[in-house]
Amino acid sequence: MGTILDGAGLAKKIKGELHEKVKKLNKKPGLVVLLLGENPASKVYVKHKEMDAEEIGFLSKIERLPVTTTEEELLDCIERYNQNDDYHGILVQLPLPEHINEEKVLLAIRPEKDVDGFHPMNIGRLVSGNPLMTPCTPYGIMELLEEYKIELSGKTAVVIGRSNIVGKPIATLLTAKNATVTIAHSKTKNLAEVAKSADILVVAIGVAEMVDKSFVKKGAVVIDVGMNRNAEGKLVGDVKFDEVAPLASFITPVPRGVGPMTRAMLMKQTLEAFERTL
Ligand code: NDP
Repeated sequence: MGTILDGAGLAKKIKGELHEKVKKLNKKPGLVVLLLGENPASKVYVKHKEMDAEEIGFLSKIERLPVTTTEEELLDCIERYNQNDDYHGILVQLPLPEHINEEKVLLAIRPEKDVDGFHPMNIGRLVSGNPLMTPCTPYGIMELLEEYKIELSGKTAVVIGRSNIVGKPIATLLTAKNATVTIAHSKTKNLAEVAKSADILVVAIGVAEMVDKSFVKKGAVVIDVGMNRNAEGKLVGDVKFDEVAPLASFITPVPRGVGPMTRAMLMKQTLEAFERTL
C-alpha cells in the first residue's frame, strides 16, 4: 500500500502558518470573490473560500451578482476592485453564464491581483519560467510533492488531461523541475500503456474512477485531481483508489488530497499579492 499524500493535513498546516503571519500585519490582506448566479457547486466552492479567508484573518468579501449581470457590468465591477487597495486578490468564480466571454473577464483582472493564476500574462510568465501567480491546483500539487520530498528530476511524468487550469500548467511545473513530461488526452492512443510508463502520474480527466491498475506502474506516484460523483452520489476521483493504491509508492486520496491544497494555495497567493504591495 502506497503512502497517502495527506493534502488536507498539509493544507491545514499551511493555513495555520498564513494565520500566524497575518496576525502580525497592520493591515489585512483582502480577497474578493465575484459570484454570478446560483450554480450550486460554485456556491459551495465560494463558501469554502470565504471560510478559509476568514479563518486566516483576511478581509473577505463575496460579491454576489445576479445571473442577468451583463458583461459590461461585470467588467466594471472587476475594474472597481482593480482600483481598490483594500483587495489584493480578485477571483471570478467559473464557470460564467454563457452570455459572458470568459477570456475577456480573465483579461480584465489586474495580473497582480489574479490569485487564480488564469490571466494570460500569468500563464505566459509561468511558461517562461518567471511565475507571478500560478494556477492553484498545480501549485498545490507541487507543494504536496515537495512536502513528501518526492524526487522529480530525471523522472518520467505523464499528465492525463490538458486543460488550462490543471493539465497544461502542471506539465509546465513538472518540466521546470526537470521531469520528462508527456501530456495525454482524449485522443491519445494506448492511453493505459502511455500512463504505465510514468514514474509520476497526474490524472485530471473528470471521469469517475477511469484509471485502474492497468494504467499504473509498480512504485509510481499517483496524483488524482478528479472530483466526481459516482452512481451512489459519493465524491470520487478519476483513479480507482482501492485498486491502484497497493501498486503506488505515493497516492492522493479523494477527498482530502488535491482539493484542500488548491484552497490553501489560493490563500497563500493572496498573502503573497498583499506582500508585494508593501
Ligand atoms: P477539463 O474537462 O477541462 O479537461 C479534462 C481533460 O481530460 C481534457 O484534456 C480531456 O481531453 C481529457 N479527457 C477527457 N476524457 C478523457 C478520456 N476518456 N481519456 C483521456 N483523456 C480524457 O477538466 P479540468 O482539467 O478542469 O478538471 C479535471 C478534473 O479535475 C475534474 O474532475 C475536475 O472536477 C477536477 N478538478 C479538481 C480540482 C481540485 O481542486 N481538486 C480543481 C480543478 C479541477 P481533450 O482535451 O482531448 O478533450
